[in-house]
Amino acid sequence: MVLGSAPKALGIAYAVLAVIVLASLWHSGWFSRRRAAGFLLVSAALGFLIFSPVFPYILQLVILGDTRELGVLLPAAAAGLLVFIAVTLFCGRIVCGQICPVGAVQELIYLIPVPRHGRNLTPRAMSVRIGIFIVILATGVGFSVNLLGIIGLKDFFFLSPTSPGFAVFFAIVLVSVTVYRPFCRFICPYGVFLAIGAARSRWKIRRTDACIQCGRCERACPVNVATAENSRAECYLCGRCTEVCPVEGALVYGRKS
Ligand code: SF4
Ligand code: SF4
Repeated sequence: MVLGSAPKALGIAYAVLAVIVLASLWHSGWFSRRRAAGFLLVSAALGFLIFSPVFPYILQLVILGDTRELGVLLPAAAAGLLVFIAVTLFCGRIVCGQICPVGAVQELIYLIPVPRHGRNLTPRAMSVRIGIFIVILATGVGFSVNLLGIIGLKDFFFLSPTSPGFAVFFAIVLVSVTVYRPFCRFICPYGVFLAIGAARSRWKIRRTDACIQCGRCERACPVNVATAENSRAECYLCGRCTEVCPVEGALVYGRKS
């Protein structure tokens, strides 16, 4: 299904444009889930059509030290990843929210109305995540193992159901019907870097003195990070909290005042 001849740079150019538009929407207070839905659809479609901008897979290739299939040299690929981490330091995980095809597919699947599970990232779940991150790095650097390839990330977007890894990644996508973004929260190595950036980001969703403590945002948040004191490292800028907040100006996206 993926058009192998299409340059991967198209996806990166789209990512840059989408970051600018989405950050502007958030910053101007115009962001809404409805307005962002188009980005989710385009991002998911780009994943299936040109397999770009699939950030975790780009990082996997950088870890392996071989980025030929991206059509760029290793330093350029690494620099691109660093640029998007720097973007996260300014405006949070916009890349994850609506731009990365892997996140977009999971976000769209999560729209299916079924009972939800796994909102909290418990200490045990956090340990699992860190363990997976170390394994991906160690097996990639030490043994040249393409772990994300083995679990079928590429097979899924290439729509190769007979490939060995397809079933594994397809199962992860099925889990995302009921658990919010399992790949992003437990497996994605790039997400770890973006979470660190988002925790320190200049612009993020903040509560103001107008908040009436009704708790609606906290109940709506699929990862339970809408509490006042949370760093927003795991905030995917999905817009559920701002959508349900009944008080204008109680939740704002911006700098600490
Ligand atoms: S956490 Fe990883 S897979 Fe998920 S949206 Fe972010 S970059 Fe993509
Ligand atoms: S609902 Fe949660 S994840 Fe979504 S934007 Fe609000 S705080 Fe972030």
